[in-house]
Amino acid sequence: MSDYKLLIGGELVEGDHVMDVINPATGVSFATVSRASVAQADEAVAAAKAAAPSWAATSLADRRAAMLALADAIAARADEIARVLTAEQGKPLAEAIGELAWTDGYLRHYCTLDLPDRIIQDDATGYIAVKHKPLGVVVGIIAWNFPLLVACWKIGPALLAGNTIVLKPAPTTPVTALLLGAICKDIFPPGVVNIIADANDLGAHLTAHPDVAKVGFTGSTATGKRIMATGADTLKRVTLELGGNDPAIVLEDVDVKKTAQAIFSNAFLNNGQVCLAIKRAYVHNDIYDAMCSELATLADAAIVDDGAKQGTQIGPIQNKAQYEKIQSFLETARRDGTIVAGGEVMERDGYFVRPTIVRDVTDGHRIVDEEQFGPILPVIRFDDIEDVIARANNSETGLGGSVWSNDIAKATEIAGRIESGQMWVNQHIAIGPHIPMAGFKGSGIGVEQSVEGFAEYTQLQVINVARV
Ligand code: NAD
Repeated sequence: MSDYKLLIGGELVEGDHVMDVINPATGVSFATVSRASVAQADEAVAAAKAAAPSWAATSLADRRAAMLALADAIAARADEIARVLTAEQGKPLAEAIGELAWTDGYLRHYCTLDLPDRIIQDDATGYIAVKHKPLGVVVGIIAWNFPLLVACWKIGPALLAGNTIVLKPAPTTPVTALLLGAICKDIFPPGVVNIIADANDLGAHLTAHPDVAKVGFTGSTATGKRIMATGADTLKRVTLELGGNDPAIVLEDVDVKKTAQAIFSNAFLNNGQVCLAIKRAYVHNDIYDAMCSELATLADAAIVDDGAKQGTQIGPIQNKAQYEKIQSFLETARRDGTIVAGGEVMERDGYFVRPTIVRDVTDGHRIVDEEQFGPILPVIRFDDIEDVIARANNSETGLGGSVWSNDIAKATEIAGRIESGQMWVNQHIAIGPHIPMAGFKGSGIGVEQSVEGFAEYTQLQVINVARV
């Protein structure tokens, strides 16, 4: 018997398989979860398909009421969910509580979104209306960095638009999602929400499934490409929120201490495991040494420990594979640059690496060119604006980025020239449910959040009536 079960067709069911979930702070299993077989994945899709017509026929008001009930039910179990989130994901409890607060805000905001019919013509000769219809069955597939928030980024808009969903969390963070399934069971009609866990073996099956109309995916660029290829045969709609290598460009006129703090917190939030974290800091030559030393001081002072312990600022890396990847980045960073803080794994159980600041590296070095998705920040020197813009844009991805300066007009002009979906000035990771989120180049296809993201969960239909 597993501790957490699958939600299929309105029932909590044992998986055909069981798997252990590792607490990354100890490296030891803390729970067992049900894991779905291919047959159970098919059952989940069949249940979502069977539920789709009646859910699509509900009113938006009824769907909003259900979504608000979900937000309330999550809030009622916030302490339990936050503790589980920390145990499986590793983030400090305060950040887990923050993820719950974010989730609440997103779900409630989605309930204010609407896509009313747009009437193009309504006169004696004719009537033309543009409608947004549900697509049918949506599959949501997500990464392991924000298991609750990103699950609700799929469930919220998909269901409010009148679709049903099969959600599949990442294999190393299934617990929060299955707990969410247990909550959804008592709120939505059977089959409207289905949540199944896997061992990284059901994604391709779900994204090729002929009864699935759309895939909402958050994860790596490599997997995003595979999903497009797998979904091509059935012309699936896709929204792909993928990786990034966000640059921060720091001009010479900033307050170094204050800016270092902001850069540090936006590079090391969730241990750097954030698609929109700062992953390359380009710092003007005039303040380069001072900025490196401020960042190193902050890194040295950070309290790195089990996220469940009070006072922890940075937890472990989420999983062993990522921990090993980060070690290989540390090796290349040591070779290519100068490590001024961190740089080593911690001698203890679990997957701990101290926050690492690397200076004297530049474009062409792996630590600068590739997304680390972990607690390492390369700091790169520049002294020419045109040159740094070209270097920031010399990337296969373009998710976010920021420009830091006291000259806001100049920073805003530079921001507009960076090829990234969200560019911030004197801030970073400033996102919200009312702000569309999209990526340039290899960072994705489509939009999430806001009314633009909501529209992606619908099929546009034109009704065109002749009246003469
Ligand atoms: P990943 O792509 O390896 O896995 C993500 C999910 O895809 C998992 O649930 C996995 O089981 C599933 N999957 C694996 N192979 C699949 C296939 N062939 N078909 C369908 N699904 C498949 O990514 P990850 O390592 O878990 O996450 C880290 C990456 O995610 C980083 O690159 C990060 O930038 C990106 N990310 C992006 C955003 C965003 O909103 N843009 C948010 C979080 C993470």
